[in-house]
Amino acid sequence: MSSIPHRVLILGGTSEARALAAALVADGVPVTSSLAGRVARPRMPEGEVRVGGFGGPDGLATWLTDHDVAAVVDATHPFAERISTSAATGCATAGVPLLRLERPGWRPGPGDDWRWVDSLDDAAALVPALGSRVFLTSGRQGLSAFAGIDDVFFLARCVDPPEPPLPPRIEVLLSRGPYRAEDEAALLREHRIDVLVTKDSGGTLTEGKLTAARELGIPVVMVRRPAHPDVAVVTDVNGARVWVAECLRIRDHAAGA
Ligand code: NAP
Repeated sequence: MSSIPHRVLILGGTSEARALAAALVADGVPVTSSLAGRVARPRMPEGEVRVGGFGGPDGLATWLTDHDVAAVVDATHPFAERISTSAATGCATAGVPLLRLERPGWRPGPGDDWRWVDSLDDAAALVPALGSRVFLTSGRQGLSAFAGIDDVFFLARCVDPPEPPLPPRIEVLLSRGPYRAEDEAALLREHRIDVLVTKDSGGTLTEGKLTAARELGIPVVMVRRPAHPDVAVVTDVNGARVWVAECLRIRDHAAGA
């Protein structure tokens, strides 16, 4: 009977998480990806997948012990705050090493007109002074922050239909990236958009809207990332792959393999 933990858990819901799962499967590492279950038809990672919350940090700690987990990579979205906090506490409780895989944030370049804010509420407070036709790409869970604004038109893009409360003047576009800059520019022109609101999600798959906004001279309200727990961080999939290999090597060494 082996008691050496050998499985790697990836907390997922991002393209990086899927890429890491594929890389670890290719390396022959037993991997389970965890999804929150928010999206109706998620893109599925390679390897084993589990869906749904763990029941907070204690539930996660129990799951790690019960499932023989040697290491955890938190590759959740930069704006998924609770699960990252839960991962830090749960891994500490279970004594399992934790790595954060987080893509770099976006940075403005020449020609950009970005206004940084700390929250979607702050974005909502700023929007009416900037324009009257807003492209809102902050995800369906954030739309309620704009519900009280009745003199601005919102074009909101999300993967699944949003739930009320919503702003009274809204058109919802259901779609999933990636998006090309030229298509984003065409969309902004078609809807006569004069403000873009986005979270600083980072990455290349959805940055086309920022290029389009720059070309069209449209101001961008950019929501800053929330703070994350103080854990080891890498910014790319290969860094996480190397970290996992080192964790498994240390574990094998400790077990005398
Ligand atoms: P959140 O507020 O940080 O998490 C809320 C709760 O959902 C957590 O406490 C946890 O429940 C559960 N949960 C979240 N991610 C999980 C995962 N990967 N596996 C198992 N349980 C998970 O998260 P959120 O902002 O609602 O985002 C949910 C998921 O969507 C995340 O996995 C994230 O990677 C992905 N996502 C989020 C955004 C965004 O803008 N927030 C954008 C794209 C993708 P328990 O406490 O019961 O364990």
